[in-house]
Amino acid sequence: MRAASLLHPTPTGLYCPVGDFHIDPPRPVARALITHGHSDHARAGHGEVLATRQTLDIMRLRYGEDFAARTQAISLGEQIDVGGVTVSFHPAGHVLGSAQIRLQKDGFVIVASGDYKRRPDPTCLPFEPVPCDVFITEATFGLPVFRHPDDATEIAKLIASVGQFPERAHLVGAYSLGKAQRVIALIRAAGYDAPIYLHGAMATLCTYFQSEGIDLGDLRPATVSAGKSDANGEAKSAFAGAIVICPPSAVADTWARRFPEPLIAFASGWMQVRQRAKQRGVELPLILSDHVDWDDLTATIRELAPQEVWVTHGREEALVRWCELEGVPARPLHLVGFEDEAE
Ligand SMILES: [Zn+2]
Repeated sequence: MRAASLLHPTPTGLYCPVGDFHIDPPRPVARALITHGHSDHARAGHGEVLATRQTLDIMRLRYGEDFAARTQAISLGEQIDVGGVTVSFHPAGHVLGSAQIRLQKDGFVIVASGDYKRRPDPTCLPFEPVPCDVFITEATFGLPVFRHPDDATEIAKLIASVGQFPERAHLVGAYSLGKAQRVIALIRAAGYDAPIYLHGAMATLCTYFQSEGIDLGDLRPATVSAGKSDANGEAKSAFAGAIVICPPSAVADTWARRFPEPLIAFASGWMQVRQRAKQRGVELPLILSDHVDWDDLTATIRELAPQEVWVTHGREEALVRWCELEGVPARPLHLVGFEDEAE
């Protein structure tokens, strides 16, 4: 079995000719296997979608009931036959419902990991190393300069800032699927049990995470009427000292002006790059990533010791070079449609 006959990149995404399906295709296809619910991987309009139940739920919440003509849920570890290829899904540690997709045919195994991370995340199952002949990896932070600091240290900065500036509302920009809930869970783990306020765009997914048994504590809508009024009847000041979670784009909106002296924070792996924080007007950058950093990326490849590595998106060249120096053949797939800023 040659790897390329089991899976190869095409203009319509990663395609398996044997099973006649795509993995995370950027455009609608007849049959799609979806690793996770982020919008650059999970798009609406496919004929048939095979994914974990949670990913299907998330797609339904984001795109509506008719996001695909047909859906099929697969349990983690369950093996099913798709057109003669044995397919199974395994936790990727990226966001709730996220999975790596393992393909097996004639004893040859390819694992498409989608997006993944190795850090513990209280909102999803941990990454499971799956032995394989070909490991397909992202390289969002595929440069040696990217080393993510400890999560608790980053969250402690936020908690300290809230203590230091009790008159200011802390607006924390975080992507609505995964990052927002992880930030909230980390804030709770740090012992902060006051209500946390949510921008309207965050509510649906937070409610879904809670319905899946993830404890996010007391969450309230960040509407002015929801805050308690102060002595002057000024509802705005009710958010003094509050933590508000919102989409990254909302901090630049008029929406942000309803809060008292808003202090802009942003939770992203990109906050390691000072210039990006500056460009976005971020006062408190929180380096929190749902992707592997360089150390975890290279440790994962060493641990799996595949015969070959394929790199899907991000900083492919540096990782390909590193693999070659390690004696592991590697190649960039140059897939289009994945955005490292998106989620
Ligand atoms: Zn993702």
